[in-house]
Amino acid sequence: MKTKPVFVYKGDALTKYNFGQEHPFGPERHAAFHDKLERLSLGASLHIAPPSRATVDQLALFHTSSYIDLVSRASEDGKGFLDHGDTPAFIGVFEAASDVVGTTLAAIDAIMHGQAHRAFSPIGGLHHARRDKAGGFCVFNDCGVAIHYLRENYGIQRILYVDIDAHHGDGVFYDFEDDAELLFADIHQDGNTLYPGTGASNETGIGDAVNTKINLSLPPGATDNEFTEAWSQVENYVMDNPPEFIILQCGADSLAGDPITQLMLTEASHRMAASSLCQMADRYCKGRVLGLGGGGYNLLNIAKAWTQVIEAFVVDPKS
Ligand SMILES: [Zn+2]
Repeated sequence: MKTKPVFVYKGDALTKYNFGQEHPFGPERHAAFHDKLERLSLGASLHIAPPSRATVDQLALFHTSSYIDLVSRASEDGKGFLDHGDTPAFIGVFEAASDVVGTTLAAIDAIMHGQAHRAFSPIGGLHHARRDKAGGFCVFNDCGVAIHYLRENYGIQRILYVDIDAHHGDGVFYDFEDDAELLFADIHQDGNTLYPGTGASNETGIGDAVNTKINLSLPPGATDNEFTEAWSQVENYVMDNPPEFIILQCGADSLAGDPITQLMLTEASHRMAASSLCQMADRYCKGRVLGLGGGGYNLLNIAKAWTQVIEAFVVDPKS
């Protein structure tokens, strides 16, 4: 049987989610990735799909209505910050952030309806936004909305969220900290040395969810060797906790040369992690993997890391 394509999302609506030329999360990130993706000439293995906008009801699966209203108002005048100084408001930020979330949900639909082999939204993975506030360049947390959406629309409970962005995925971790069925594995730069300062190894969940999640810190300067060691713990964790759906937040800011972090990985770590998850997805959950780009502020690294993830998604691990 011919393998279905990998869906990758592209469109002007997604390009609008940026904070200007002077900001690390600037407007060039999209093109840097798509230009390199086109050069790979993946042919029929790849399907470029358009963005989609989330409804307010969908945003409210994760976010509080007062926070949704706050972003909506800030979007009209575009002034000030949505958090304490990292995430500026801009005119249209509500729509742009809703497009990021809606596109992540469209990617889930494409996987669950059997159209896509796997799917990737380069501008998704906004893992710092909390239910009631923005943080770290993240306005709406598409990862958090996606988890509730999978449960409500598809009855999928045991979702594995894996995060290899240099920053800890605090917006996912803390809002599902007491949820034993949200499987969570995060490899990041030590929170003592980087925003948001969280993700210590003793943070394993609370209440009924104690010991159901893993946080693995790498010291500044860590390379592919340290990542590979940490990854073996993620593999053991996944084998002990078979998921029904896998979300990979594959921030490219963990590669050497990122201007705001100090990890020294190469794109080989992203390839290895994505291949490993695809193999486990094929074994445990009908191959269902959704990739979300996340951070990354060195354009070359974005292109290298994310295209390695796409290649891993395209290649059938059984072949
Ligand atoms: Zn990051």
